[in-house]
Amino acid sequence: MSGQVSGPIEGLASSTAGRTRAVALYSGGLDSTLAILTVMRQGIEVKAITFMNHFGCDISDRSSCSKDPFAASVKFGFEVKLCHLSEKFIEIVKNPKFGHGRNMNPCMDCRILMLQEAKEFMEMTGAAFIITGEVLGQRPMSQRRDALDIIDRETGLRGRVLRPLSAKILKPTLAEEQGLVDREQLYGFGGRTRKPQMALAREFGLTEYPSPAGGCLLTEPNYSYRLRELFQHDPSPALNDYHLLRLGRHFRLGLSCKAVVGRDEAENEMILNLSGGAGISLHVPDHGSPVTLIIGQSVTEADIVTAAALCARYSDARGLDSVAVAVTDNGRQYRIEVRPADAALIEEFLIEKKKAQAAATLY
Ligand code: SF4
Repeated sequence: MSGQVSGPIEGLASSTAGRTRAVALYSGGLDSTLAILTVMRQGIEVKAITFMNHFGCDISDRSSCSKDPFAASVKFGFEVKLCHLSEKFIEIVKNPKFGHGRNMNPCMDCRILMLQEAKEFMEMTGAAFIITGEVLGQRPMSQRRDALDIIDRETGLRGRVLRPLSAKILKPTLAEEQGLVDREQLYGFGGRTRKPQMALAREFGLTEYPSPAGGCLLTEPNYSYRLRELFQHDPSPALNDYHLLRLGRHFRLGLSCKAVVGRDEAENEMILNLSGGAGISLHVPDHGSPVTLIIGQSVTEADIVTAAALCARYSDARGLDSVAVAVTDNGRQYRIEVRPADAALIEEFLIEKKKAQAAATLY
């Protein structure tokens, strides 16, 4: 193994003409960064892609999400291209060929989609192979040996995906067989421990990297529960509907009508921003109050009264027998008097995974 690298990897700042090129899936996390540095150290030019979706960060190594995916690329001198998976990703969330994980996460299909996109980029840029930061056995769904084989087969990339961190415990890839990459300088990491990666990071002088994260929002039981419930009522939600699922408490008032109640000031503001002025908003004047947004069609008077009771329940006026709630509906403003919702009303309308269910479906 070579010594510490604290600037652009040697040789890469110079001309890349005639050099072998690879495309890397890059999350900004530890594993994908190490995979890239391991290959760059052999004088190979790397072009990285960071994928994004509506449910969180990229997942190129499924180990972490970085707030600044460019930090290591700047330090070590490799290019990063951003690519949003947008509607293609939504489709696999709805109908994953290989099913969901414990929650709504379609990890196998997700990796297949990313590699398909990377394959196109590889062909466009004349790269010889693809690198990922996957570590055999690190994740239950998509990083088992058979899962890696299926992913390579489904993408038509058999032999073209190099996993430098686990290469020595996987079959040699074409790049290794053709001598483009020296297998001896790759690694045989496996399992869930991250100690070998941390030691390698020290060797490379990679001092700042995010802690491992559990995956995108689709691995969260409650977010997944809300999303499944949303698809049951609306097969084609708008983008803001996905964003709203991250915020507040959600209540199903009718087949096409929901209330979202903010939990703090920051959420209140975000809920209002996401509403874009549409929907019906409620709050309790002169008291600390959540913003409550009613979204959907066919909103009845009864729905507004229920939403007002919920709004009052989560306001500082919850101890009063009767609370005046201000309603803004298409520019029309008025007040209604309601009794704050009791536990039974909340239980009836709340869209939330029950504790026992949540425990049974931890990712
Ligand atoms: S957790 Fe699974 S579905 Fe979500 S981004 Fe990562 S690989 Fe894709």
